[in-house]
Amino acid sequence: MSDFERFIDWADFLGIDGPDAFDTADELLDHFGRESCSVGDASMDYLNTGDTYSETLVLDSDGSLICTTWGDWHDAAEIEYREENDVVRCGYCGNFTDDYADDWHDNVCNTCGNLVGG
Ligand SMILES: [Zn+2]
Repeated sequence: MSDFERFIDWADFLGIDGPDAFDTADELLDHFGRESCSVGDASMDYLNTGDTYSETLVLDSDGSLICTTWGDWHDAAEIEYREENDVVRCGYCGNFTDDYADDWHDNVCNTCGNLVGG
């Protein structure tokens, strides 16, 4: 069990809600700042540990605490967003665009006009 998982258990045990526990972790733990991340309607705050895929404490927009990496959270949120909205992310400009082609590489970006897959 990681320190972040232990922290979440400790907050649960003491009956401290997610946002208050996250504020406490923000003050007590070493990190590089409190950051935010969003994809579509999904959003969260996390403690920046200096590496996209290192474990950290995440405060989900529903107020729950999660132990994950911000990169894994972002990857999962993006997959969910693409599937729910039938879009792909453009490799040139980074914006989402409609996914209408049989092969996602063949979609033309609505924003920049390039083929999303190059
Ligand atoms: Zn584009």
